[in-house]
Amino acid sequence: MNRAYALCTLVALSLMACGGGEPNDAPSADEAGGGATAGEVNVYSHRHYDTDQRLFDRFSEETGIAVNVVTASADELITRLETEGAASPADLLITVDAGRLHRAKSRGLLQPIQSEVLDRNVPAHLRDRERQWYGLTQRARVIVYHRDRVDSSTVRDFADLTDARFEGRVLIRSSENVYNQSLMASILAHEGERAASAWAEGMVRNMARSPSGGDTDQVKAVAGGAGDLAVANTYYLVRLAQSEDPEERRVFEQVGVIFPNQADRGTHVNVSGAGITANAPNRENAIRLLEFLSGAEAQALFAAANGEYPVLEGIEWAPTLTGWGDFRADTLDLTRLGELNDQAVRIFDRAGWR
Ligand code: FE
Repeated sequence: MNRAYALCTLVALSLMACGGGEPNDAPSADEAGGGATAGEVNVYSHRHYDTDQRLFDRFSEETGIAVNVVTASADELITRLETEGAASPADLLITVDAGRLHRAKSRGLLQPIQSEVLDRNVPAHLRDRERQWYGLTQRARVIVYHRDRVDSSTVRDFADLTDARFEGRVLIRSSENVYNQSLMASILAHEGERAASAWAEGMVRNMARSPSGGDTDQVKAVAGGAGDLAVANTYYLVRLAQSEDPEERRVFEQVGVIFPNQADRGTHVNVSGAGITANAPNRENAIRLLEFLSGAEAQALFAAANGEYPVLEGIEWAPTLTGWGDFRADTLDLTRLGELNDQAVRIFDRAGWR
């Protein structure tokens, strides 16, 4: 992943300077097809950030298209889409993790779209192979260690977490979590079933405790002494670093971050992303909104507010990410994460990873 340079700021947006801003060449709301209500778009989103609402407001200002948002948990949204079927008012599904986006696709809830803007803004490996979903932000899954208790020069890859020297010292959340399922899918894609199984067994052996809580809880447990190493997505660390709560900032100060697999395939990355729903009544408006979200203004806001890596080149990163510097990101086609999800879950189950 190339470090972005400060071509764009939230204050002085320059779509031209960022090369990849979306031209306003989509059909106007009045041209939206299918006898649908012109001038609106219905979004089902798992994200409930103030930033997202600001982005939708900006989109409405620019296009005159009203954005109606339903927020719920990612799995609830998928269930709701299935229940509503062809009668669903939803046009755009925004959710997190390629594994979950693939689930929506494989249940027939999304549709493929062609868009030059999206093809230009979203790198090929960060979108569905059949163009049914597109990554909008990236996150890396990294190793977190206690600065005083772990010599970071001795840990390079996820495989190192299974070393006998770390017995009883590793913290990671449940295998029911899709982030871990996608990480396992990436190991499967690169190393095959045997190595993936051995990794799962080694991790279970070295766990400091039975998995509980989310990524932030694992990082806090490292600071609190329950273990010495953890696995977490990068934006959770950015949140700790930027927290209003001094206790959380203290947690961040006690830990360091290792980007795994720098000598070979690169660090596992995943996305939050979106796809047009199979029966979208406002399809053209939804494509326009998706294009807007992949453009420079939205990408800068995502990156600044949520501590995620933009998918669009040339956008400034959050200071914590810039501080860690550039790293080699795995460029595995993320469609594979979804395709290998079932196999990943079976490996976890066999290894007894709760
Ligand atoms: Fe998360």
